[in-house]
Amino acid sequence: MAYLGNPGRTIAVLEKYNFRFRKSYGQNFLIDDHILSKIVEAAGITKDDCVLEIGPGIGTMTQYLCEAAGRVVAVEIDSSLIPILNDTLSEYDNVTIINEDVLKVDIRALCDTYNGGRPIKVVANLPYYITTPIVMGLFESHVPLDSITVMVQKEVAQRMQTGPGSKDYGALSLAVAYYSKAEVVATVSPNCFIPKPNVESSVIRMTLHKENPVDVNDEALLFKLIRATFNQRRKTLVNSLSNAGIPGVDKDKIRAALSTMNKPEAVRGETFTLEEFATLSNLLG
Ligand code: SAM
Repeated sequence: MAYLGNPGRTIAVLEKYNFRFRKSYGQNFLIDDHILSKIVEAAGITKDDCVLEIGPGIGTMTQYLCEAAGRVVAVEIDSSLIPILNDTLSEYDNVTIINEDVLKVDIRALCDTYNGGRPIKVVANLPYYITTPIVMGLFESHVPLDSITVMVQKEVAQRMQTGPGSKDYGALSLAVAYYSKAEVVATVSPNCFIPKPNVESSVIRMTLHKENPVDVNDEALLFKLIRATFNQRRKTLVNSLSNAGIPGVDKDKIRAALSTMNKPEAVRGETFTLEEFATLSNLLG
């Protein structure tokens, strides 16, 4: 089977199987071999790597991954794509296709089974309707991960990469910064997909930190504080946190912590850096 990364071959496969796109699964298939090569190159895949691909579609990127990696595990929710994948990937003996919802898959068990518990790389053209739960789920599960290289909506890539002072700064930006070093490696036009999405896309590579970038005594508390802050981002930090009902976090304690940090009482949490949230969390914990 020749590479699928162009419009003609993709359409031929779709017609052969009379495939009907399901919008609810965020199905936009890549048809640009230049972008496909760029993603695999940016992910730095070698034959020593085990790659988890989320949403292989008809196997377009999977073919590139199978060529570059030692092993590929591809998780696809749409059962109508499984016979297609068995066909388009029939030449490769280093791929395992799993017909499941990735949000329900035990990724740690996959790492154990397919890579002896060693860190895996995640590479995907993500379904945009669940980008944040997928990325947050990967981070919070603390499974051994080397990097996550994914196509996402351009606006989401901006949110993932930004700092205080930007309207895009929020809980996702802080989680990405806490867990990884993020870099946008490509911007991708809607013309590179079939069907065309309504938005521009970006490929972002998140390389997981080997050590935490900040000292935090209670990671769960840190993220509770961050979520509470951005749930009510226009309020002062004192108000947004005291409204959130976090056990042990009351107005007096927050005011005392701000005073220790030399911050004014009316400060908004959206101005805080990751380091400042970490300090606050350690003072309140
Ligand atoms: N990788 C293919 C490509 O680049 O051409 C397809 C990418 S398409 C944007 C997203 C893929 O994710 C679709 O194949 C879709 O069926 C699949 N998908 C959607 N939700 C999923 C889920 N919860 N778990 C696993 N796969 C999912």
